Amino acid sequence: MKVLVLNSGSSSQKSSLYDIGDVLPNDPPACLWQAKIEWEGESAEAEIKSGRGFTRRNRIQVSSRAQAIEHLLGTLWKGEASAVRSPSEIDVVGHRVVHGGPEFEDPVVITAEVKSAIASVSAFAPLHNRAELEGMETIEKLLGAVPQVAVFDTGFHKTMPLYAAVYPGPYEWFASGIRRYGFHGINHKYCARRAAHLLGRDLNSFKLVTCHLGNGCSLAAIHNGKSVDTTMGFTPLEGLMMGTRSGSVDPGILTYLLRQSKHTGEQLDELLNEHSGLLGISDVSGDMREILSAVRKGHERAKLAFDIYVHRLRSSIGAMIAVLGGIDALVFTAGVGENSPDVRAAACENLQYVGLKLDPKKNAESPADEEISAPDSVVRVITIRAEEDWEIARDCWELVDKNQTQRQEQHT
Ligand code: ADP
Repeated sequence: MKVLVLNSGSSSQKSSLYDIGDVLPNDPPACLWQAKIEWEGESAEAEIKSGRGFTRRNRIQVSSRAQAIEHLLGTLWKGEASAVRSPSEIDVVGHRVVHGGPEFEDPVVITAEVKSAIASVSAFAPLHNRAELEGMETIEKLLGAVPQVAVFDTGFHKTMPLYAAVYPGPYEWFASGIRRYGFHGINHKYCARRAAHLLGRDLNSFKLVTCHLGNGCSLAAIHNGKSVDTTMGFTPLEGLMMGTRSGSVDPGILTYLLRQSKHTGEQLDELLNEHSGLLGISDVSGDMREILSAVRKGHERAKLAFDIYVHRLRSSIGAMIAVLGGIDALVFTAGVGENSPDVRAAACENLQYVGLKLDPKKNAESPADEEISAPDSVVRVITIRAEEDWEIARDCWELVDKNQTQRQEQHT
């Protein structure tokens, strides 16, 4: 089954193609084709990689997402990177949808009703859900009646108990959809299953904390394969300090600034999402690599930014362990989590009380999908490469396979 995955960001479009046989493999397979476009205004940087080792990077002009997708997919069936002979070889298209709102938990086949339900929660994630709907419509135009599947970034956290999901404001908030949803669920779910597999543990009797530390950062407390708590909430702004996002701040600061008429709601939104976090404190960058290099040169505000990041990370890991009532494994994933020994070492430093000990040499090597805890550590620590697109492809395979089985059963 050839599964095409579309992952739409606010100013980017990524896409991957997988070929899955009759059985789902344990390890994520290599993509047959992978493409990415990032744009600023109409000028875009495109990167195309084929499974045969061909890579091309170039600048192009794009005036809409539809045009960006058309450009990417053109390379899938034409030219040096091509991985299929014609669009008709694609069996299913999976989309990452950031916000499933109160309605969606599991992946669903996209229909007109599903699209209008996704549109109805787009007020919760305006930049994302609209981009994803545009992706679905462009695929309909380019590939016709191919089955399309929506996989929700909020879905995995729908198992959180009510006391973790409801904000202690007025109860009417909850009734009108203002609740904690949590995000990065596709990767948290993937990491939980992958960690159990690599550590030889049964996911159904396993307590783990997964740390997704990329440009956006969130933790999940996972018990027996289910999310029981997470640090992001109604929006991806709650919780940990991030590259350019503040994470949790006292909401009194915002009402104070509004009362003083210092900012409008929109300006606050921009301030908290674009000019806070590592960037806001350091005034250097939202990129952890640049923060670490500035710290090494003695930059004081970069050091303060790093210390706040680590402090909040440690206290949130502690909170997740308390929610779980213990921990078997700690997972580090995404850009910072996979690549920064400094962040991992600092995050784990105060966790000796739960019996967690890193192996400094292994940690320094940042191996992908390998254990980095010391042999005598009670809690196992592992790095896992984020594989969101593969998780979406798996979900598509499972859903389409289930639908086919149901149809066969109806016939017999
Ligand atoms: P996204 O959240 O947008 O998917 P990634 O998961 O790719 O992004 O994470 C991007 C971030 O990873 C970068 O902003 C950078 O801070 C961080 N990063 C990547 N490599 C390293 C590294 N070697 N050391 C520290 N941080 C890194």
